[in-house]
Amino acid sequence: MTAGRDRGGVVIVGSGIAALSTARALRTHGYAGPITMLARESVAIYDRPALSKSFLADDGAVPESLLAPGPTLGDLDIVMHTSTEVEVLDLGDRVVHAGACSWGYEWLVIATGARARRMGTGPAGDGHVHHLRELPDALRLRTTLRHATHLAIIGAGLIGLEVAAVARDRGLEVTVVEAADTPLGRVAPPAIGDRIAAAYETSGVRLRTGCRIARTLGPPGRVEGIELTTGEVVAADVVLACVGSDPHDELARGAGLVTDRGIVVDEYMRTSDARVFAVGDVARVRPRGAEDLDDGVRSESWRAAKSQGERAAVAILGRDDPAPDVPWMWSDLGSIHFQAAGAGPAEQVIVRGELTDRNGVCFVGVESGRVTWVGGAGRGGAVARLVRSGQGLMEVAADVQVDAFAAATDATGLTRTLVDAYRSARLNTA
Ligand SMILES: Cc1cc2nc3c(=O)[nH]c(=O)nc-3n(C[C@H](O)[C@H](O)[C@H](O)COP(=O)(O)OP(=O)(O)OC[C@H]3O[C@@H](n4cnc5c(N)ncnc54)[C@H](O)[C@@H]3O)c2cc1C
Repeated sequence: MTAGRDRGGVVIVGSGIAALSTARALRTHGYAGPITMLARESVAIYDRPALSKSFLADDGAVPESLLAPGPTLGDLDIVMHTSTEVEVLDLGDRVVHAGACSWGYEWLVIATGARARRMGTGPAGDGHVHHLRELPDALRLRTTLRHATHLAIIGAGLIGLEVAAVARDRGLEVTVVEAADTPLGRVAPPAIGDRIAAAYETSGVRLRTGCRIARTLGPPGRVEGIELTTGEVVAADVVLACVGSDPHDELARGAGLVTDRGIVVDEYMRTSDARVFAVGDVARVRPRGAEDLDDGVRSESWRAAKSQGERAAVAILGRDDPAPDVPWMWSDLGSIHFQAAGAGPAEQVIVRGELTDRNGVCFVGVESGRVTWVGGAGRGGAVARLVRSGQGLMEVAADVQVDAFAAATDATGLTRTLVDAYRSARLNTA
């Protein structure tokens, strides 16, 4: 079948939040041409964040809440082909191919996301180590956890710790192994990681930091434990590797687009081909003026994927939005809510409060006289106010007095100082 080479319009490869937000934003901004989404998975459009949280906690059917809310694709006249893996991008003829089908495009958006990084650990090996990225992974893991007693998780990043909290709540023994000295190193300063580690230990999760898995143990076809690089043996009948993700950028590379551990895009999500955009976890965004490819960032967060889709849509319509969003992300680590905006590390990081305080623990990172990283964790929603103001402050790129933050004695004081700094920055830029 050749699916309308003449259909043209916008073709979006992928069906995650980045793809969906591109399609929706195109319609919201008045795009009237054809929009076609091509999705490798058979279940189209579900929110991945639930897979390591509520979905694993619940033994019921696939919950409706995994489906994105809002108008349906049909309402928006967006055509979706599921179980359709795009294999070739022909940028010269502006056609994408999947099996015997092909689609012509005027604009192409690549939203192919990322895959869970694989970890080779014999002899019980690969096949018995779980990974978590897609709905079938989560279904498999949930089924296995039902009959398991001891879960070993490799990697104390957000996904690893989210699953650890759920599994502990389900009554499993849980051990988390982390190569770095503190958990959450990619998203939080060590002082926050340390506090979260202590809370996990208190809840009965065992953390082994500063070491790696050497191998899985057990007869062929079954895992009975893991051996760490320290020589310690940890009993485990399920092993889950949460050691990062690798972008699905092979299609782009094969087509000759510039890639560098992701598809390199400018702040409007344009690739090295002016007709092609890349959004979400597959995109490495190079900031304005950056010469070096290493300056690019792959955000790997739900909110970033959503807003990148919106930016691409606006750019396709020829209306470049001059103010890129400051990245923002959240996580639920059991009962601990975590949020952060911007990116670390920073020259000076001021941390105030404790997880057990009403307003939790917060941090503000300052680099060259500007706030570049904020966040916090706690059992209430107080951290959201700090993060919103910090995001605003970063958007207006205002200079700040670091001494004022250092003078704060608790999380409430730190939040108040940041909110005041944002207010005065807004007055100055009004
Ligand atoms: C378990 C888990 C928990 C998470 N929790 C949080 C959280 O709490 N907070 C947060 O901010 N972020 C979280 N994230 C990250 C967030 O979900 C991702 O950043 C976001 O899903 C990225 O969206 P995306 O659309 O770029 O990619 P994806 O959601 O990966 O979607 C890409 C889609 O493209 C499809 N595809 C790939 N190649 C092809 C092809 N050749 N042809 C057709 N289709 C193709 C894939 O099958 C996939 O469906 C979590 C991620 C995971 C995996």
